[in-house]
Amino acid sequence: MTNILSQSPYVLYSNGKGEIFEDTTLYATGRTGWDAVPVPVEDWIGLPEGGSLYELPGRKGIGIDVQTGEMRLCDKGWAVAAFIPPAHTGLYLAAFESQPDAPVLPLFCYTAAAWFEDRFYVPAVRIEQDIRQECSGYDDTQIQSGVEVLLHAYPHNRLVKHLAENCCLTYHCPAARNYFIGRWECPVPSSPACNANCIGCISFQPQEESITSNQDRLMFKPTSEEIVEFTVPHLQTAPYPLVSFGQGCEGEPLLMWETIRKSIIEIRKHTLNGSININTNGSKPDAVRALCEAGLNSIRVSTNSARKPIYEAYYRPNNYAFEDIVESLKVVRDHGGWTSINHFVFPGITDSVEEYEALRKLVRETGLRMIQWRNFNIDPDWYMGRMSIYDTGESLGVKQMMLLIHEEFPDLKFGYYNPPIERINGNYEADFAHY
Ligand code: SF4
Repeated sequence: MTNILSQSPYVLYSNGKGEIFEDTTLYATGRTGWDAVPVPVEDWIGLPEGGSLYELPGRKGIGIDVQTGEMRLCDKGWAVAAFIPPAHTGLYLAAFESQPDAPVLPLFCYTAAAWFEDRFYVPAVRIEQDIRQECSGYDDTQIQSGVEVLLHAYPHNRLVKHLAENCCLTYHCPAARNYFIGRWECPVPSSPACNANCIGCISFQPQEESITSNQDRLMFKPTSEEIVEFTVPHLQTAPYPLVSFGQGCEGEPLLMWETIRKSIIEIRKHTLNGSININTNGSKPDAVRALCEAGLNSIRVSTNSARKPIYEAYYRPNNYAFEDIVESLKVVRDHGGWTSINHFVFPGITDSVEEYEALRKLVRETGLRMIQWRNFNIDPDWYMGRMSIYDTGESLGVKQMMLLIHEEFPDLKFGYYNPPIERINGNYEADFAHY
């Protein structure tokens, strides 16, 4: 999606009935922290396939008057934002002014969106060449028959039933759909509980919150027999296979480390194929050490910040601290494993000078191998309000920050997905755009 823009695109607004229009009296802006700012023309790309647009009730878009150059509100309707598809990182949030009674927005990302001539545009970069979650790559008939075959193959496996009925057919989870197509990354949720209380948890939201979680949390503890039964055949037969503990439909997998450890040992008795990964909050370094000794290949630790106060204000951890997640990364490094952070990108905070310095320190201290630059799925006003962040300080720009980190750490990989073992051990830059 090479950018061919010769000028700033125009603001979008909705009529509150799901119909979206452009306002050609206003150039679009972007949001960083609490501020609306002009977006450099070269930062806009066509809205990638699989992206969608949201109308933002109770919010007015902010634009730049094409005549006066003044910044002002679009009074023609509600503001509009984009949910950009996986493999892309948003550089600016949607810029809007909320009215006092504006409802809290659900847990999705709200990237700036605009229009020019015949296209929707977003300020974003493609950060990952791997095509595993391209929406054009999913065939519903193939998925449906995969579900029937595997449910028949594992009639008593509660986890395969959960992956089929909930993850694949209800939540349309890309990882679960890939599992039922027999390829790439297979999700293995295992924990009904969590030892953190993230403000924007996608699998559990307290009753008193006005928003709901995107999916329900797993309601049972799978046995290692259930886990091994379907993961071994996947590792033996799928192209570029990996199995990943720690999914959006569960709590914290490290609370199930004994079951996971037993599963890894049993899996490796049957196959050495592929990679065994854990997506985690990284809270229990001793459990991580036990998993590494059992054969864990890679870890992805999720974080909204490389700064202890910002991290702990969001995760609200029970009986662990920021230092533990840093230690978990070091433990996997020391066992020769692959380490990533699942870095929730919030323009204005992620690219603040303080955050940049903290991230440099984290990369140096842990020997981190990869940053997965993920869009933060949260209402920007709600997040900053709940975090009591009223001044984000000076910021570099997300794109500029990525460039600086890349220059200083050229071997540090940028992406969006957990790499298969072929990438970890082989030619990382090999062509994964065409599996
Ligand atoms: S670590 Fe994950 S499951 Fe736990 S509260 Fe945070 S988002 Fe939810």
